[in-house]
Amino acid sequence: MEEIKNTNKNPMESKSKNFIYEIIDEDLKANKWGESTICTRFPPEPNGYLHIGHAKSICLNYGIARDYNGKFNLRFDDTNPEKEEQEYVDSIIEDVKWLGADFEDRILYGSDYFEQMYKWAVDLIKKGKAYVDDLNADEIRSSRGTLTEAGKESPFRNRSVEENLDLFERMRKGEFPNGSKTLRAKINMSSPNINLRDPIMYRIVHDEHHRQENKWCIYPTYDWAHGLEDAIEGITHSICTLEFENHRPLYDWFLDELGIHHAQQIEFARLNLTYTVMSKRKLLQLVKENYVDGWDDPRMPTVSGFRRRGYTPESIRNFAEIIGVAKRDALTDIALLEFAIRDDLNKHAQRVMAVLHPLKVVITNYSGEEELDGVNNPEDPSMGIRKIPFTNEIYIEQTDFMEEPPKGYHRLIPGGEVRLRYAYIIKCEEVIKNDKGEVTELRCTYDPDTRSGTGTSKKKVKGTIHWVSAKHTFEAEVRLYDRLFTVESPDSDKEKNFLDFMNPNSLEIIPNALIEPFAKNSKKGNRFQFERHGYFCVDTKFTSSEKLVFNRTVTLKDSWGKK
Ligand code: ATP
Ligand code: MG
Repeated sequence: MEEIKNTNKNPMESKSKNFIYEIIDEDLKANKWGESTICTRFPPEPNGYLHIGHAKSICLNYGIARDYNGKFNLRFDDTNPEKEEQEYVDSIIEDVKWLGADFEDRILYGSDYFEQMYKWAVDLIKKGKAYVDDLNADEIRSSRGTLTEAGKESPFRNRSVEENLDLFERMRKGEFPNGSKTLRAKINMSSPNINLRDPIMYRIVHDEHHRQENKWCIYPTYDWAHGLEDAIEGITHSICTLEFENHRPLYDWFLDELGIHHAQQIEFARLNLTYTVMSKRKLLQLVKENYVDGWDDPRMPTVSGFRRRGYTPESIRNFAEIIGVAKRDALTDIALLEFAIRDDLNKHAQRVMAVLHPLKVVITNYSGEEELDGVNNPEDPSMGIRKIPFTNEIYIEQTDFMEEPPKGYHRLIPGGEVRLRYAYIIKCEEVIKNDKGEVTELRCTYDPDTRSGTGTSKKKVKGTIHWVSAKHTFEAEVRLYDRLFTVESPDSDKEKNFLDFMNPNSLEIIPNALIEPFAKNSKKGNRFQFERHGYFCVDTKFTSSEKLVFNRTVTLKDSWGKK
């Protein structure tokens, strides 16, 4: 499979109109849709939470409706009672809204069309184009033939219209047990396209539906229902993923036989992303077997996971535009998604200092307390400055001090100097250790002429490090996330299961990081750049009135695999 990587210095420059727009432009030129407006839809089955692939489809479908002043419908394809739940319906509505795709008041349900679909099925029976079959699912499958061999006709294929009408009505009434009968389209058992070999239209399922409850015990198959749902809503462009390309002749057959509205189906390649899995079945397994903390675990490729991790809707929309729409399956580098969120947060996130692994520093020649000016966002002067308290006891990052530094290390060393961000240059005078020989504290002196922004001293040092005032800082939990899988395509190994590739270090919890006081009154969902560490967001689940929990959304640079 081809891999989509970032070849542009600035991926934002690669946004362009895709081939679907060209098709629509031509339709409009040819006046194909007359007076009707362009209408697209997003048709999820409510059997899981939405993932980033769904987000791509939402952005594409909504984007088209928006750009052509058309309409965009959110329609639940809720035709299978066994796997569907209200929880999924609710989460999908929340996610689509959050992404900014405006469906106005059109939250539609395929199951609300069951009565109309039933009537159309009766029409096909009356035309001699559908029949009730007594073969079970296995028998139907094994008589369908192969790519090189025609299928076998069912012994029930030539029932009379009257008998079919009677049986179908009794199927609906609940007279027959699960799986004992189906309604099949009567097309062609030797068609080269297997989808046209008398496909099943209805199955008997005595099961409660999340919306229709016990009103129905026959349920339409996806193949039968999908084109009808588009027809009922007057969808003009029915955009779907490539695997439906050879179902298109079947959808066309149904619509032509019924003589009803025909959406134009256009297929595009589904999004596959490196270092993750996208199949709902596999995501469900990660949740059910507790490999992750729910569908919205910040490591999940779900919309709710990205939201909790701190991604913005803009970044996901931008990502969808950067990667574009293709006709061939490809694997997209997750670094492109990370680029999109970095680009957005760089422009908007408030900067603060945070020390994840603290080392105490006492400044022996400083007394008192003062407030220094910190720039809130160098990319956006309108965000202003904040006051940062400075005292003689501060914490710095353990890794910003080394007793025996390698060549090129520009941070603090015994006898060396470093600049404290927004403050002064300090010099390390003494290193204090515990019984085990570990460094527990540094004694330093500061140079009063080197205060940032005053320009009174010509002294220059190579390194600048961040810090927090011991007296003013507060403790918070910080969660660092890494990729959930260790290989690019965890689900394409022939011998191993995707679970064998899970990254055992995908979550690191730092229980007591020290944060600059400015961030103390943060609310759930607030976003920051912790200088030199990355972008962080206040977790909506684990944050309590006692303790803030920060999720690392993304690092400042793409350093994966380069460590
Ligand atoms: P399944 O049908 O196996 O449950 P699905 O991911 O196709 O999984 P749907 O709820 O049917 O789930 O998907 C809703 C819409 O999202 C469909 O129109 C589908 O084409 C689109 N979609 C699903 N996965 C992707 C993907 N990886 N990239 C782009 N679009 C996708
Ligand atoms: Mg699907």
